[in-house]
Amino acid sequence: MAARLQSVRGTHDILPEEARKFRRVVETFRAVAERYAFGEIATPIFEFTEVFSRSLGEATDVVTKEMYTFTDRSGDSITLRPEYTAGIARAFLSNGLQQETPCRFYAWGPMFRHERPQKGRLRQFHQLDVEIIGVAEAQADVELLALAYDLLSELGVADKVTLELNTLGDHESRARYRDALVKYFSAHVSTLSEDSRARLDKNPLRILDSKDAGDRAIINNAPLFTDYLNEASLAFFADVKRGLEALHIPYKVNPRLVRGLDYYTHTAFEFTTEALGAQGTVLAGGRYDGLIEELGGPATPGVGWASGIERLSMLIGDLEPGPRPIAVIPVGAATQEVAHIIAHDARRAGHIVDMSYRGNMGKRLTRANKLRARAAVIVGEDELARGVIVIRDLDAGTQTEVPRDRLVAALDAFR
Ligand code: ATP
Ligand code: MG
Repeated sequence: MAARLQSVRGTHDILPEEARKFRRVVETFRAVAERYAFGEIATPIFEFTEVFSRSLGEATDVVTKEMYTFTDRSGDSITLRPEYTAGIARAFLSNGLQQETPCRFYAWGPMFRHERPQKGRLRQFHQLDVEIIGVAEAQADVELLALAYDLLSELGVADKVTLELNTLGDHESRARYRDALVKYFSAHVSTLSEDSRARLDKNPLRILDSKDAGDRAIINNAPLFTDYLNEASLAFFADVKRGLEALHIPYKVNPRLVRGLDYYTHTAFEFTTEALGAQGTVLAGGRYDGLIEELGGPATPGVGWASGIERLSMLIGDLEPGPRPIAVIPVGAATQEVAHIIAHDARRAGHIVDMSYRGNMGKRLTRANKLRARAAVIVGEDELARGVIVIRDLDAGTQTEVPRDRLVAALDAFR
């Protein structure tokens, strides 16, 4: 039986044109992150399942429905990473980096979530990620938001996004708010969705993140976190807002903003856009002061964000075309070898060279034009016998003969 020749639902192939945009996003990210003195970290694509189940929270969508979990040949339960933070926190502990705080990491790579695929929502997607581990001050949150804002500005999309900001408070505020939510949602339990009913005991805050339309109507009248924040939480939030204002980073407080994972405290934020339809969150994150302890390490504060590369690529639109190649076209079998040497020399001199192999001259010139070649080097038998090569200026439609030994130098005019 023939193999099923299609990619698995929710996965896609990144062809060269899209790969350029992808690379633009990653390279811009790398440059900005390095400027903020972050160091690159790469963690494995899979981890022991408990790294995610313990840190993300048992009642979250990611853990209950979206993880790609399997038992490997050693009998271990393994999960393809659905997000970066848990793995980076695990790496922080397994490499004994507690002595080296603060740690400032950046990373990018593929993530895996078994969700319902739609535009901007894939099962294998890619994220950019930054984390500051070991800083309890609000300035770290501000710095990470500034990094995000610089990245979006450099990608030319800052004016298409809104920074939505909220606080989830410290543990005490959260416990008080939790009680208020349980009281409120318990009164509406018969109309809540099944998922939300299940969350009522485990983590009622998660109900606020529900996408169910019926739930949304109930959520609209739910108590607001703002009314349950203690002094310390309010002061922390005020510091974040003041820091953003000092850097002229625009934001909008959204008291309804909650994040999908359990480990967040204090700052929660999302950069959202209207330009991508339903999947409008391009970058999201917050503070996770309890996470590392949850994983079995010493109490260590942390803050970070992640951004979907596919969503950023869609947002940046088409790129200006890249540098133009030179097409080397041998005419006749006897010129093949010389053509290859010419291509080789030109590449070593820094030119982008496309080598054509067969087809009549017309076809090959058509291909050269399709590649947006700036010039064609036509290696003909007669010319070669005279020690010359033809360079055709594909923009002007003119051609000149150049001595073989001056060819590569002559190509400089077509860079
Ligand atoms: P959503 O509410 O869209 O499901 P989320 O809260 O699950 O997002 P995070 O876990 O915060 O998302 O991930 C950070 C970013 O990664 C998102 O803002 C988005 O840009 C991107 N992202 C998340 N899930 C997907 C996916 N399935 N496909 C493509 N990008 C995604
Ligand atoms: Mg999600």
